Amino acid sequence: MFKRKIFEPEHESLGHQVAEFLDSQVVPYHPQWVADRQAPRQIWQQAGEAGLLCRTIPQDYGGHGDDFRGSVVIIEELAKRRLCGLLTFLQSDIVAPYLHRLGSEIQRQEYLPGLCSGRRIGAIALTEPHGGSDLHALSCQAKREGDEIVLTGEKTHVSNGSQADLVIVAARCGGAGDAQSAGFDMVLVDAGTPGLTRNRIDKTGMPALDTSHLQFDDCRVPQDNLLGASGMGFFYLVSFLSIERLVLAVYAQAMTETLLHETIKSCNKRKTAQGSTLDYQAIQFRLANLYSEAIANRSFVDSCITDHLAGRLDNRNACIAKLRSTETLSALAAVKLQLSGARGFCAAGQDTATQDVLDSAIQTIWGGSSEVMLNVVGSSLANVL
Ligand SMILES: Cc1cc2nc3c(=O)[nH]c(=O)nc-3n(C[C@H](O)[C@H](O)[C@H](O)COP(=O)(O)OP(=O)(O)OC[C@H]3O[C@@H](n4cnc5c(N)ncnc54)[C@H](O)[C@@H]3O)c2cc1C
Repeated sequence: MFKRKIFEPEHESLGHQVAEFLDSQVVPYHPQWVADRQAPRQIWQQAGEAGLLCRTIPQDYGGHGDDFRGSVVIIEELAKRRLCGLLTFLQSDIVAPYLHRLGSEIQRQEYLPGLCSGRRIGAIALTEPHGGSDLHALSCQAKREGDEIVLTGEKTHVSNGSQADLVIVAARCGGAGDAQSAGFDMVLVDAGTPGLTRNRIDKTGMPALDTSHLQFDDCRVPQDNLLGASGMGFFYLVSFLSIERLVLAVYAQAMTETLLHETIKSCNKRKTAQGSTLDYQAIQFRLANLYSEAIANRSFVDSCITDHLAGRLDNRNACIAKLRSTETLSALAAVKLQLSGARGFCAAGQDTATQDVLDSAIQTIWGGSSEVMLNVVGSSLANVL
């Protein structure tokens, strides 16, 4: 919809390759995944074979050795088609980079090839039932006992949670008595580890995305499953926040452009006595506002991608990108529903406007809610003087 300057010709051909795979292997089956509340496991392996996973991980570990633009192409193609059942970016751009950046050589060799090929599904578990926004309040415990780490506690709303072969768990590494002062560990937990119980959560938004509650009861893993240094988990989480927020901004912006295109098209098609609903000034103004926001957000998100490629993306700009792209998306989804009239409330398959509102609402919450983004930007304002 808007002119872009960040891509090279190879990204265009990757886009075609991804589109072809999604249109033939995912789109026709997605309604069933919505009903099942998850995608089948084999689609991950098919996605790996089609080159959709771990674009930025070096080839030595089974990845493609691309820069972040390879990931951007895939994230955008998924968002355009609303394919929430196969959110590859969680595996490709969050879980695998954690392992690549923090893992020992043994851990990289053990886990990365499987994540890159799709033979393994990965997840990351930070959020807990009493609140996900405040990472300082994590209470899941990781205690040392001999050469084992013993996990006790709960995690919730973990994407890929019930199907994951590998979960990166953030847990407090001190004893119970010093829960508030102790640092975090990032611990690798394999599926099937005794003491790990998983239950899928039934959601209204992004219903095909496997989202689960994880319970750890005396769940023991070897010391070697510690990812990075002990006690440094909070530092690691913070160091990954900007890329996580940028990924979510890229997704939200691509969804915005799709919804905008569909809304303008359907208003133009809806006949009235005056012509179409797009001929009314009241509707033009609503859409003009959203179009203006979307075009400004596009420039900003792309400038953040460029900054990330140059290694200079700061967390404040990543927060602004996530805040603006997701808030515009949310506002647009509500307008799209309004302008769809009664058709917007019809059952899935006939019109997606109601589902778009629910899916968009998630974007302003996950990976840090809009209010948390505002806190980060707000608390930095004195520095801009
Ligand atoms: C579809 C989906 C997938 C997810 N996937 C994962 C995953 O893979 N791994 C994972 O760990 N988590 C995941 N999450 C959890 C997600 O990151 C959290 O929902 C998010 O961080 C918010 O935490 P919360 O839901 O506990 O809300 P809370 O922390 O309870 O906050 C609720 C609301 O209170 C307000 N609020 C809270 N704190 C503040 C504050 N400091 N300042 C101002 N306002 C505040 C905000 O309006 C916020 O939206 C997922 C969530 C969803 C919906």
